[in-house]
Formats: sequence, C-alpha cells, structure tokens
Amino acid sequence: MTHNLVDFHCHLDLYQDFENVIKESERAGVYTLAVTTTPRAWQRNHALTEELKYVRPALGLHPQLVGKNTAQELKLWEQLLPQAKYVGEIGLDAGPDYFRTLDEQKKVFERILTLCAAAGGKVLSVHAIRSVSVVLDMVEAILPRARGVVVLHWFSGTPAQARRAVNLGCYFSVNTPMLYNERNEALFGLIPTDRLLTETDGPFTRSENSPSRPKDVIGAVKALSELRHTTPDQMAEQIAANLKNLLSGGASS
Ligand code: MN
Repeated sequence: MTHNLVDFHCHLDLYQDFENVIKESERAGVYTLAVTTTPRAWQRNHALTEELKYVRPALGLHPQLVGKNTAQELKLWEQLLPQAKYVGEIGLDAGPDYFRTLDEQKKVFERILTLCAAAGGKVLSVHAIRSVSVVLDMVEAILPRARGVVVLHWFSGTPAQARRAVNLGCYFSVNTPMLYNERNEALFGLIPTDRLLTETDGPFTRSENSPSRPKDVIGAVKALSELRHTTPDQMAEQIAANLKNLLSGGASS
C-alpha cells in the first residue's frame, strides 16, 4: 500500500495498550481519529497525540452516557471545545437500551451543534442509532455546511436518508461490518465516492478474531475497492484525498 490509510473513528483509549496502539498508528502512517466518549478523556488523549503527525484526538460526549452527570460532563466539554478541532463521539441513540434518555440526549446534541456552529471549523464524528432523521433535522437546522463538517459514523439509515445526508454535505465513515452487510448495497450505490472515509470503530469490531486496530482499516478499503471496481491502492488514495478535501473546507459535490 503506497497511500496512507484513514481510520476516522477508533476508540484508542479503550485498548489495554492505549499508548502502544497510538504509536502503532503513527508508525504505520494511518490517519487516525481517536474519538472519546467523555470529555474527561480529552486531556490524556490530547497529551499523548500532541506531537504526532497522524493521530488526532476528538472531544466526545457519547449519547449512550447521557444521563450520568450530564450537566457536569457538558460543562467540561464546553470548556475544552476551544482546544479541539475534532468533536466525537457525539450524536443520538434511540435504540432500546438508551431510548429513555433520548430527550436529554437531544438537548445535549443541540447544545453541542450550537457551540460547534458558533466556533466554526470543527469536524464532527456522529453516532445516529435509530435516529437518523432527527440527527439530520438538527444538523440542517443548527450547523450550516459552512460552519462545520459532519461525518456520519457507522451509518444505519435508509437510502433516502443517505441521500438527504449527502445533500446536507455529510461524509460517511464506513467499516467492514457495514460493507459486508448485503442490506447496505443500495446505500453504497448512492453515496458519492468523494464522500467516503473509512473507520474501524475499534475495539468494537473484530479483525481476524481480535479487536480491530487502526491498521486493520485496510479491510474496509479492500471491500470498498471491490464495490467501486477499482484497486485497493487507488481506493486508499481516494480516501486520503477525501480527508484532505474535507479538512481544506472544500465539499466537492
Ligand atoms: Mn464508536
């Protein structure tokens, strides 16, 4: 592989060998977004990646954790936002286990989007389980495209919702379980290639029977290359170019 890989959603701080997995990504030149689930994780993620070229930390407040000290967590998140270019994991989860906190999740997500819009220039990694329409409604109402970029992580919506997300300027970070799910065939048919990024969502996915690590994102690159009838190397080049384009503020199509 002659091009740098991109793992745009990985929970590095949930690995037992956190520091080692950071070094591994950096050595391999995998552009890795280290998402977090609580703003309390920011300081250490930030300190360990500050001097690095390929690994970047994201300031998160996971929707599944809303309900536990939410006011305090949000306050800390707000204080740290000026330090962060990347925001995540954030979003909504209306699945059966988290539905009871959905109203509170919406308030948190609304506040996060509002502050990101005010700050400008943030890149958001967004979780949307059984809540894609609401997430897109809120993004459309609160975060204009010129004020920030939304990357939908592990998208699980319908083709119509995907089309709407594309029209709103969203990117999609995709992983191997999504790509090997036949139900997603129509979905991948309508996401423009220049809106695709790759992710592992490690350690929550597995590669060769152990938790995926950022370098395992090659699996998603290979699956995407088959889908788009190109080579893994060309697909890796495309994904790296998409990331560059996203960061330069250019949304192509
Ligand atoms: Mn995640």
